[in-house]
Amino acid sequence: MTLRIGKANDNDFVVAEPSVSRYHAKLSRDGDGSLILEDLSSTNGTFVNGSQILKKRIAPSDRIMLGNNFELNVSEVLKSNNDYSEEFAALKSVYSEFVAQKVRIQSATTFRARLFQALPFALPGIVGVAIGFSGKGTSLFLGVSLLVAICAPAAGVYFGAKQAAKAPQLLQDLSNRFKIDYVCPKCGTFLGEIPWESLANKKHCQAPGCRAKWS
Ligand SMILES: [Zn+2]
Repeated sequence: MTLRIGKANDNDFVVAEPSVSRYHAKLSRDGDGSLILEDLSSTNGTFVNGSQILKKRIAPSDRIMLGNNFELNVSEVLKSNNDYSEEFAALKSVYSEFVAQKVRIQSATTFRARLFQALPFALPGIVGVAIGFSGKGTSLFLGVSLLVAICAPAAGVYFGAKQAAKAPQLLQDLSNRFKIDYVCPKCGTFLGEIPWESLANKKHCQAPGCRAKWS
C-alpha cells in the first residue's frame, strides 16, 4: 500500500491547503505492517512530533504536519483508502476475551454442579465416621444422620441443576454482546464466530459492498 498526499487532484489523499505542495508526502506500509511517512521534496517540509523528517516510521498517534498549517490525520488518510488495520487489530482482544469468558462459564457451572451434587453424598459418610470414632451412637445422632442421608442428595441435585440451568442464559448474553462488539470497523457487519487470526489472513471484510481491508 502506498498513498500519495498533496494538493494535486490525482493524489490518493487530496489536501486543499495553499502551503501544502502538489505532491507533498507519501504514506506506505512496510512488510510487517508498520507505517512509513516520506516527504516528496515538499516546499514547506513534513514534520513528525515537531521534527522535520525525510522518511520516518510513524504511529497513528504521532502529530504530523504538512508545512506549518496543515495537520495530517493518519487514520483519516487510511480510512479514505479503506485501510482499517488499526481498528481491526483492536478486535483481537475482543475475540480472545469472548473465548475465555465462554470457557469460564462452561467450566464454572459444571464444576459447581458436580461439587453441589457430590458434597451431600459425602456428608452421611462423614457423620457416620464421626459417630464411629466418638463411640456415641445415640438414637438422636442416628436420626440426624438418617435425615441428612435422605435430604442432602435431593438438595444437592436441586442446587446442581439450578446452577447448571444458568449456563445457557449466561452464554446467550455473552453471545449477544459478542455480536455487537465483533464487527467490521467500517460496515458494522458481525464477523461471525471466526478466530481473529483467520479473519486477519483474509485481509478484508467479507460483507458484500464493503471494501474495508486490513493488514
Ligand atoms: Zn465491512
